[in-house]
Amino acid sequence: MKKLGIYLHIPFCGSKCHYCDFCSFPNQSENTKQAYCDALCAQMERYAPLAADYEVDTVYFGGGTPTALPAEMLCALLDQVKQNYRVAKDAEITAECNPATANAEYFAAMRKAGFNRLSIGAQSMHDHELRLLGRAHTVDDFRATVQLARAAGFENISADLMYGIPEQTRQSLAESVRALCEMGVEHISAYGLKIEEGTPFFKKKDTLNLPDDDEVAAMYEDTVASLAMHGLMRYEISNFARAGYESRHNLKYWECDEYLGFGVAAYSCFGGRRFGISRDFSAYLDTREVYEENEAISQSEQMTEYVMLGLRLEKGIDKRAFASRFGVEFDAVYGARLAPYIGSGFVLDSAECCRFTTSGFLVSNSILSEVLDFA
Ligand code: SF4
Repeated sequence: MKKLGIYLHIPFCGSKCHYCDFCSFPNQSENTKQAYCDALCAQMERYAPLAADYEVDTVYFGGGTPTALPAEMLCALLDQVKQNYRVAKDAEITAECNPATANAEYFAAMRKAGFNRLSIGAQSMHDHELRLLGRAHTVDDFRATVQLARAAGFENISADLMYGIPEQTRQSLAESVRALCEMGVEHISAYGLKIEEGTPFFKKKDTLNLPDDDEVAAMYEDTVASLAMHGLMRYEISNFARAGYESRHNLKYWECDEYLGFGVAAYSCFGGRRFGISRDFSAYLDTREVYEENEAISQSEQMTEYVMLGLRLEKGIDKRAFASRFGVEFDAVYGARLAPYIGSGFVLDSAECCRFTTSGFLVSNSILSEVLDFA
């Protein structure tokens, strides 16, 4: 039976972080949250016949902050997923969570409903850095949240970490990395801060004391090395895990597998089409799904996407899988374009696979734009 991932976007947060460009709305009433959950359920019901031949092996609640919903609303949504789709017994079921948004009772309800993985937004293990980011929690809140989750039986916990943030140094980042590892989390996502238009950080970007590009590159390299020392190996350019704890849901994105996304700003890749719902919250509440794009993906677009995302993975592109998926040899399409980067040590190439080296990961965006623009 074909496999499917399901993503639900929960666009609620207690407050808005200074750098945040995600589709999230702070301080919404319970009535609004309930109306949104009703719209999500209606969308899930409408799409269910499309997925009759699929088994759902991953479910991911992202945001926003899914735990900004009351526990009964969040658990009812998971119940609706199970009512409408065939969910595998061993499915990975993740919710993003922010520190201090869930207590022992909340986590117990989540476990009972079937959640088995949490992705918690730590970002930094220094309170002054959290304040600069406008995060609504402290380091102690994060520690307490992990403890409560563990006590409720969560054995698969990921933490988000950010580098390149105002006033951060290589030393303070190394301390954050060490502190997270010492807490025993199974997975870490480490992303560099991007200053996005329309955010409070964008308005004052010239006054932020940001580390320069060389320092940020060094921070990434330090992080990769330190996490490896603690047994968290890079499996994707920004994601690190103990063996067996790689995010099965996120791997679907990087391996171009099928998934359906529900809610505002949620994207789907399904049946050879890609479609995304706009950020128009009130339209969505009226169950008017406004699509940002809805198009069949051509073979050449599929190849470009497969290479762009597959090369983000440590294991890179499996050439045999590429040939059986597209009916053409990887080397015949990309061999000549990648040759200069293989020669200069940025890309490792063998008969079986093609992947970035560590120095290649640091300049992967510019290499990909050269190689794929040509496609
Ligand atoms: S918690 Fe996440 S989604 Fe919510 S405002 Fe902060 S960065 Fe944005």
